[in-house]
Amino acid sequence: MPRLPVILSKGQSRNPEKRGLEEAVAAQLAEHDQLDVIVMPHIYDLKPESEGYQTLSQIDGDFIMISWLYTRSCHWILDRNGIRGHAGDILLSQLQDDDELEDELEDELEDEKERVLDQLEIPDRKIYSLEFAASSEPSEFVEEVLRIAAQSDLLEWIQGKANQEALERFLEPVNDTAMGADGALPVLGQTGVTEVQDPGTRRWYPVIDFSRCTNCMECIDFCLFGVYGVDKVDTILVDQPDNCRKGCPACSRVCPENAIVFPQHKTPAIAGAPSDAGGLKIDLSLLFGAPDAQDVAARERDEQLMLAGRSPVAKDEEQDLKADFGTISMERRQPAEPVGAADSLDSLIDDLDALDL
Ligand code: SF4
Ligand code: SF4
Repeated sequence: MPRLPVILSKGQSRNPEKRGLEEAVAAQLAEHDQLDVIVMPHIYDLKPESEGYQTLSQIDGDFIMISWLYTRSCHWILDRNGIRGHAGDILLSQLQDDDELEDELEDELEDEKERVLDQLEIPDRKIYSLEFAASSEPSEFVEEVLRIAAQSDLLEWIQGKANQEALERFLEPVNDTAMGADGALPVLGQTGVTEVQDPGTRRWYPVIDFSRCTNCMECIDFCLFGVYGVDKVDTILVDQPDNCRKGCPACSRVCPENAIVFPQHKTPAIAGAPSDAGGLKIDLSLLFGAPDAQDVAARERDEQLMLAGRSPVAKDEEQDLKADFGTISMERRQPAEPVGAADSLDSLIDDLDALDL
């Protein structure tokens, strides 16, 4: 029987509440025969050649991913690793306030620019990215997954690919009781859950949202660590992700389209939250004399250059360029250099992250 794969990407922290939610969702989903439940480490940390991504690459059709990432971040991390599809509509998501929804609607109405997404070849399938942060109730994830599973069957019929089994399970959805008779949750590992054991290490790199990116090349000019590159048709890509400096989100502040995401950053707008609210894109300096996003970005990049034992970009040179071009975009004046092995600052950041404060 064809089954809908549901992938659970575990969080990085050891927070017992998060672990508990992951296990409860996996166990409850595994009670449903029409689902294939696969648990794997955090997809941001995995490399394309990892067992986790090899497993994902074997899925041809629709699938659901549940992770501790914003939906947008999850989708474009998968894309970066060769797992492509159209973003499926979801109903279970973190609340957005009216202003945020209005901003997004306005963005869509005003959008006349050509985006990289328009040029990409996307396979004809849907990837549904759910966020663990959307609810603390495992049953809500089960409900949403079953809704998507039923919708997926419905699409097959519309496209003339109906089969009797799919029809039957749509008309008679599987019993939605995941609890045992005594009310206890099934134990992970004893149910129909497959776990991919992939010892990944923590990583930090930018992810490009190609539905926003216009291929303007601001980022490749700004980053002096050789993270960005271009493909055969001169489209921007994150070429050397592990050259990125841990904790540095500088280029996300200079991207004019807010297309660069750092999924593990504490600021929601930089981590891929739906709206730009909370980020530094609004030029507060015009209102309050606060530093604007480009100045903050330049300072963050300079800090990383100095930590790597290199010279910061001269201030007067920066200001000249800003006056000339209106941004701090610049020609490469220092060769893009990879960074060395993780230094003690990196380890400290790892340790702080693991505390999950
Ligand atoms: S700066 Fe932003 S919009 Fe421009 S190429 Fe880079 S990611 Fe795309
Ligand atoms: S500018 Fe900083 S954050 Fe952006 S890719 Fe380069 S090193 Fe990473």
